[in-house]
Amino acid sequence: MRSTILAVPLLLTLAACSPTPAASESASEQTSQTPVAIATTTQLGSILSDITQCAGTTSSTLMGPGDDPHDFSVSSREVADLTKTKLVVANGLNLESGLQAALDGAKADGATIFEVAPLLDPLTYASIEEEQAAQHAGHGHAAEPADGHTDEHAHGEYDPHVHMDVARMAKAAGLIGAELAKVTGDDAYTTCGTQVEQKLQATDAQVREILASIPAEKRVLVTDHEAYNYFAHAYDFEIAGVVIPGGSTDAEPSSAELADLVKVVQEDKVSAIFSNNTVNPRLVEAVAAEAGTDLAVVQLYEGSVGPQGSGAETYADMMLANARLIADALK
Ligand SMILES: [Zn+2]
Repeated sequence: MRSTILAVPLLLTLAACSPTPAASESASEQTSQTPVAIATTTQLGSILSDITQCAGTTSSTLMGPGDDPHDFSVSSREVADLTKTKLVVANGLNLESGLQAALDGAKADGATIFEVAPLLDPLTYASIEEEQAAQHAGHGHAAEPADGHTDEHAHGEYDPHVHMDVARMAKAAGLIGAELAKVTGDDAYTTCGTQVEQKLQATDAQVREILASIPAEKRVLVTDHEAYNYFAHAYDFEIAGVVIPGGSTDAEPSSAELADLVKVVQEDKVSAIFSNNTVNPRLVEAVAAEAGTDLAVVQLYEGSVGPQGSGAETYADMMLANARLIADALK
């Protein structure tokens, strides 16, 4: 009698602990489908994917082609995924401002977030303004910046757009590989990270070769928003002006700021204004129309890689496409 009573809870316990064959199968299937790492932006996602493919695993990316990193946000299901993966690779420095709350929440729930941009010798907005002022004077233009172009940066002290310098992103590949090795215990990631780093160093050399055809006096950029400081710093360009002030894409320029920019474009004899695939080109086109008819609006790939069929689907191809588009517009 006594032994029977004891046996019942034991059986119940056993039944509760051992899953049915079907449930166990779907659980292991899910484990094999869970990516080892998840990237926030498409640029980091492209690099991460090269590293995990090399190591024989998979990764995924939250953003897609055409998504603006500044205002992109995710569903609660995607936030839950961030805690299931080994590593979340983020840009940081508040590039992903629409995603920050989700990243903070995932981190509180145990996700490992690896922010890359702070480790890539980020430029401060103050140092950028100094460098640009010196370069502006060097190019024989008036040294004083137009009003409205020395605005404060609502998004922090550091410029987050490190992806516009391929050499910095090459370094990022090495760092991501090493971090993946650390969180998984698999040294293959270090080797693969180094491989991707070397590949991107070769891409950086190719970008320089393409841009070499642009004469010094033509190395002046006017862009949709302030995303090209690293590009200008790395590849020797001057930023004459931006359409959307403040370092992000969510500000609206005043009509006085737009009028100033039109003046800069006309006085500097700028031959093209660069828009990008993740912003509405309406304001850029308005400035171009106001400034003169022979001014081209050229769409680059900045906020994200290009869609299928664009020839800019990967980070390396995106930067090579940008170099060609800029060289064609300015040489
Ligand atoms: Zn931006």
